[in-house]
Amino acid sequence: MNKKNIPVTQPFLPELNEFIPYLEEIWQNRWLTNNGPFHQRLEGELCDYLGVEYVSLFNNATIALITALQAMRISGEVITTPYSFVATSHSILWNGLEPVFVDIDPHTFNIDAEKIEQAITPRTTAILPVHCYSNPCDVETIQKIADNYGLKVIYDAAHAFNVKYKGESLLKWGDLSILSFHATKVFNTFEGGAIISPDLKTKQRIDHLKNFGITDELTVVAPGINGKMSEINAAFGLVQLKHIDKVMRLRKDIDLRYRASLADVKGITLYHHNMNADSNFSYFPILVEDSYPLSRDELYEKLKAHHILSRRYFYPLISNMPMYRGLPSSQASRLINANEVSSKVLCLPIYHGLEVDEQNYIINLIKEV
Ligand SMILES: *Cc1c(COP(=O)(O)O)cnc(C)c1O
Repeated sequence: MNKKNIPVTQPFLPELNEFIPYLEEIWQNRWLTNNGPFHQRLEGELCDYLGVEYVSLFNNATIALITALQAMRISGEVITTPYSFVATSHSILWNGLEPVFVDIDPHTFNIDAEKIEQAITPRTTAILPVHCYSNPCDVETIQKIADNYGLKVIYDAAHAFNVKYKGESLLKWGDLSILSFHATKVFNTFEGGAIISPDLKTKQRIDHLKNFGITDELTVVAPGINGKMSEINAAFGLVQLKHIDKVMRLRKDIDLRYRASLADVKGITLYHHNMNADSNFSYFPILVEDSYPLSRDELYEKLKAHHILSRRYFYPLISNMPMYRGLPSSQASRLINANEVSSKVLCLPIYHGLEVDEQNYIINLIKEV
């Protein structure tokens, strides 16, 4: 049946006509970047929409992560998860810090909070967990440990746009949370990201750091970076925000259909959302177990041969990459769950425009073997 490629995700694009008036406004007022009117508006609208106090927009989440570690003046060792996109650990290395990997929970795929304490040394100053696939980390336990040991907690919340946990924004947990608005994420500004801060003083420090450390015309207070979001990206975000509820609703339908159809397939394990949280349905990971007739990679290749482009997120594991595998905490014997999940996981296509017959086609390919 299927000739056109079905990607693992597809960015939502509004009608071009909806975006044109924003471009005209930029052309008229000639304010292209540096905290322009659309930038200010998007920060305000995101605060309201997400239910958080302070948002600092960035040109991408990787620069935001690097800046967040700077803003908190982190030094020495940072405890993190190997089961993530490389940017998480790279942001630690870019600060001249040492990542210390802790294994994941085999059900949530998030850092196993019970194993954090034994990884703390006198050099540890922060924990950098990831809310994997938008599923909340064990935020209560992590905060308790951080309070006991005087550590900062910075959440890589790149997947966690608009996730509510026990009725409140998940992004309020920890000292800072970082969002990604990359084209592959559920809410996108082409490229973009943000840091969520708990107070104005912290937001101001972050805003200075993302603008070279400049505080006024004559004063530079820190070796900042250029992390600013441009007016075009911010304007696009404002348009995108008008459609985001609909986009997430369509994703939810797809999520539910996969669940109903794949629940009984022998050798396929589904990943469950946290009962206390609203997912944003940004990913649909499955585990391909040994009892399934094909290996994970064989299923990946089979789908690809039928023009279905599933993704092995997250494989290879960060701790097995050349720049990390020499670290003491990278030994596979300490990261049993992360290595196992990484070898079995496959993320299936999920996006607003995935049609029912396309999804049924994917489901049948998985079931027929
Ligand atoms: C996408 C992603 C990032 C990086 O985001 P960019 O905006 O592309 O820099 C960081 N961490 C995780 C977990 C991600 O999925």
